Amino acid sequence: MENNIDDIKVSDNKSNEKYISELSKMGIDEAEILLNNKRARVDHMKLWDDMEDIGTEILDEVISEMNAYDSDKYTEVDVLRALKKDELDIEDLRALLSKPAEKYLEQMAQRAKRETQRYFGNSVTMFTPLYISNYCENYCIYCGFNCHNKINRLRLDDEMIEKELKAIAKSGLQEVLILTGESKKMSDIEYIANACRMAKKYFNVVGVEIYPTNSWEYKKLNDAGADYVTVFQETYNSDKYETLHLAGHKRIFPYRLNAQERALIGGMRGVGFAALLGLDDFRKDAFATAYHAYLIQRKYPHAEISISCPRLRPIVNNDKINPKDVHEKQLLQIICAYRIFLPFANITISTRERAEFRDHVIGVSATKISAGVSTGIGSHVEEEESKEGDEQFEISDPRTVDEVFEAIIKMGCQPVMSDYVDPSDAGRVLR
Ligand code: SF4
Repeated sequence: MENNIDDIKVSDNKSNEKYISELSKMGIDEAEILLNNKRARVDHMKLWDDMEDIGTEILDEVISEMNAYDSDKYTEVDVLRALKKDELDIEDLRALLSKPAEKYLEQMAQRAKRETQRYFGNSVTMFTPLYISNYCENYCIYCGFNCHNKINRLRLDDEMIEKELKAIAKSGLQEVLILTGESKKMSDIEYIANACRMAKKYFNVVGVEIYPTNSWEYKKLNDAGADYVTVFQETYNSDKYETLHLAGHKRIFPYRLNAQERALIGGMRGVGFAALLGLDDFRKDAFATAYHAYLIQRKYPHAEISISCPRLRPIVNNDKINPKDVHEKQLLQIICAYRIFLPFANITISTRERAEFRDHVIGVSATKISAGVSTGIGSHVEEEESKEGDEQFEISDPRTVDEVFEAIIKMGCQPVMSDYVDPSDAGRVLR
């Protein structure tokens, strides 16, 4: 008897694949099927067999407090009360992220600046990202690297990685962030661990921003020299998340949300958090990001906490994305609220923002800034014949390391290449 596709129950990976294959036979493209048929997509809340389960205590608390956040409830009185307090609670965070707080941006910036100076002095740490592969098995509809997008894919081999690292190290930077697209097949843990080992020869601090993985795999990376792990949750609204991440490991919401905790269990010194502002209600997403970081800090007091504040950017081959607008004013409000609520956390401002805005926020809230950035693959080495993979998004601040260094000084701050000394590593000379 012929299979009727309506009879196929989509509740696990196998039936999901069968459903897609039946529709594909009718000539429908897989990307379209996933986009238009919710039943073709796997349960985004259910861990896969290869995903470590560490429970959902933090996830449940973040989501329930985020769902309870109604930013319209807060008034100017709540904002002013929050600004007067020495130590803020989550009600104060909610008030500072609400619409009425926009009127008090100047007061928020002044308070944020005082907190930054109290915890960080005038130091601003510099780093640069190094994209080593742009293969990706996920289907995130807002990203140019997604597996259905026809772009130039590239995975650097050891020799190319070494050349890129050397080229970056020449700039004087001592911190590098290694990034890959999310493909375990094309950039497995061994490949990334090897890149970390190479990076540790040239850099004092090595971060990774890769697919979420299990604690024992984070341990491998930590043993290879990685110091911290950054994972963007994108949005904390799980229903929205489901509609944006249509296939691949990334689709599994709880696995991503628990990544920082698994990284700390695996021995990492620090973890980074972010929502991609503009994907959903940015006030709720900013609240969830800060509260998530706060809960992790409370559970792992030794952990170094960092927060990034990315906004959606245009991508290659996708003109369908229409981000919910987060203007610079709202972005500044969010960054100040993060600083006031989490005064000890590093806040990173990326090259998605224009130079003037970045310079302004390093004097106020941000303590970490990227420089000499290219989001393409293999683009730090200038060789006529060198191949480059496409870039993930367009940047707004293309300044070199020297230019950013000078800008930090002009803002009255101190550029810092690295303030970390590994006790087991004292006396080591970087090549
Ligand atoms: S956002 Fe990350 S996981 Fe999603 S398609 Fe882009 S590179 Fe892949």
